[in-house]
Amino acid sequence: MFAEILTIGDELLSGHTIDSNSAFIAQKLTERGYWVKRKTTVGDDVKEIVAAVSEILQRRPELLVISGGLGPTHDDVTALAVAEALKKELLLNEEALRRIESFYKSLYERGLIDDPDLNDARRKMAYIPEGAELLRNEVGAAPGFYIQKGPTKIFVLPGMPKEMKAMLENEVLPRIAGKRFIQKKLLAEITDESKLAPILSEAIEKFGVRIHSSPKGFGRYIGIIIFGENEEIIENAKRFMEEKGIVFEQGW
Ligand code: ATP
Repeated sequence: MFAEILTIGDELLSGHTIDSNSAFIAQKLTERGYWVKRKTTVGDDVKEIVAAVSEILQRRPELLVISGGLGPTHDDVTALAVAEALKKELLLNEEALRRIESFYKSLYERGLIDDPDLNDARRKMAYIPEGAELLRNEVGAAPGFYIQKGPTKIFVLPGMPKEMKAMLENEVLPRIAGKRFIQKKLLAEITDESKLAPILSEAIEKFGVRIHSSPKGFGRYIGIIIFGENEEIIENAKRFMEEKGIVFEQGW
């Protein structure tokens, strides 16, 4: 199952904000057994977003998660651009409008804003592409949405990390099939790194696990993460690698 992530925002390109959203989304999807093949970042620009979405859809991933640019300001153009890329109309969604209205009403009642009314900027967030399903945002104003295009399930989430995380957990993960994978981190003591690769490949093949590896500790250690469906499979893969001569230490 292959997935792609698209993060949107000028502040990500200028370096003012570090794109922590894509790392969080990637971790959650990897845990679910998805192979995140590509992450893309573009600015708040309709043409750039349309081009990025169109390119991603041509690669036909099973899943595309997009974050950023759903808010009320003029530079929040993600819903419009996604609609354009999918050749859909952008339509006012009455349910979204009701949710946005009640969100601002509750902020007003708590004394956090001066005006609870729906102005044009707030109404703008209730427009989603024709055929899209609303995703509930329990933390902020902008609803997200879900739409399918060919083999690709597309989820569009706000950029505020708190909102994105809550929606990913509550609205996205329950909607995507996929086995829940658990992971074990190990340190492999390595004297000859070239011997490691074929052993990892054999373990992947034999036990159906996924293994990520990266150098740690001045070339003496390789950090290994084994992803598997359960503890037993991971333990068997680990034992197999030990029998092949890999010495493991505690995780990192
Ligand atoms: P909102 O409803 O809050 O306006 P939005 O979808 O418009 O949501 P953005 O305007 O793109 O979101 O970003 C809101 C905030 O979230 C900004 O402070 C931005 O820096 C931060 N943010 C956006 N994208 C990311 C990201 N990929 N990683 C971390 N922070 C992000």
